[in-house]
Amino acid sequence: MKKSLKVKPIENGTVIDHINKGKALKVYKVLNIDKNQTVTIAMNVSSEKNEKKDVLKIEGIELSKEDVNKISLISPNATINIIKDGVVVRKFKVEIPDTIEGILKCTNPNCITQIENIAGKFKVEEKEPLKIRCAYCEKFLNSIEICR
Ligand SMILES: [Zn+2]
Repeated sequence: MKKSLKVKPIENGTVIDHINKGKALKVYKVLNIDKNQTVTIAMNVSSEKNEKKDVLKIEGIELSKEDVNKISLISPNATINIIKDGVVVRKFKVEIPDTIEGILKCTNPNCITQIENIAGKFKVEEKEPLKIRCAYCEKFLNSIEICR
């Protein structure tokens, strides 16, 4: 007899669906989820469109706006499902914000934010491909490193 390994749906929490294939762990890392939280990571799952995707299920938490912004920078097509008592009460697609505060670090070593260790401010100039400019030194970031 075959035993199903299917994970049971969560009762309360957040399901991050349609994460780009291979990005689930990166999303998990930037979210600062408590080590005791129950988390299910599914990688290379077939989606309805026959493409592979990753899915992250986190029990018992709701994401902050900042968390959602972080996810958008890693996987701009991800969708967030908020589950309450086993029912999806809210579903929305992440969206890359036009301006970003914190979250990222300027990659220019001479930038004032690097020298004085202050929180960065950024303007998203292009979303596809992602081009982000520092509001302080006006240089484009040459890599997108998300702070925890
Ligand atoms: Zn800068």
